[in-house]
Amino acid sequence: MLWDVDDTLFDHTGADRKAFHLHFTAEGLPSDDAALATWRELTEAAYARFTAGELTFPGQRRERARAYLGPETTDDEADAWFTRYIAHFEASWTAFPDAAPALAELPYRHAVLSNSVNTVQERKLTHLGLRHHFELLLCSDDVGHSKPDPRAFHAACKALDLPPEQVAYIGDRLDLDALGAHAAGLHGIWLDRTGDTDAPPGIHRITTLATLPKLLAEL
Ligand SMILES: [Mg+2]
Repeated sequence: MLWDVDDTLFDHTGADRKAFHLHFTAEGLPSDDAALATWRELTEAAYARFTAGELTFPGQRRERARAYLGPETTDDEADAWFTRYIAHFEASWTAFPDAAPALAELPYRHAVLSNSVNTVQERKLTHLGLRHHFELLLCSDDVGHSKPDPRAFHAACKALDLPPEQVAYIGDRLDLDALGAHAAGLHGIWLDRTGDTDAPPGIHRITTLATLPKLLAEL
C-alpha cells in the first residue's frame, strides 16, 4: 500500500490556512479570503515548478516569499520570511483523525510516495506519530521523478519489490495521485474528502479513510 501524505494523512490545507492567517497578520499583510486564495495560487504555481525540476525546494519557498517582499529580496531575507511562516505552520501540524485508525487496521505493508523532500516528510510523519507504520518513505527529491510520472510509481513498487498490479496508491489529488497511479498499472484510489464528484472509470473513490479497509479487501 502506497500513500500520499499532504491532505491525505496530514491536514495540510487546515495547517496552511492557520499559518497563513497568523503569519500574514504578523507581517502586516492582508489576510482575508482573497489574500488566502492568492497565497494558494502562488503556492501551487511555485510547487509545480519544484516538482517539474525548475526550482529547488528552498527555491520554491523563496519564490513565494518574493511575491510579497519584491523581486530584489535576497535569499537570506526570503528564507527568514518563510521561516516565520513555517514556525506557524509546524505549530498547526495535525493528522486527520481517520489516519491512525486506518493505518493500524490495514494488514498490509505501507510506504509513502510524496512529491516533496524526504527530510520534510520524515519530520512531519514522526511529529504526527505515524512514521512507524511505514517501512519506506520515498519522495520526489530522492526518486528523481514526481507524480504523476509513472516512473515515480514504478520506483516505489520496485523499492517494495512488488509488481504495480499488487500495489494500491491513495491520495487526495485525482490527477497526480489516483489517475497517475492507475496509468502506471497500480490500483488508483482517490480520497475525495470534500468533493461530490464521481470518479472516472478505473478509479476507486472514497471520502474517508474509514472505508479504505473494506475497499482494499474487495480489490
Ligand atoms: Mg496530497
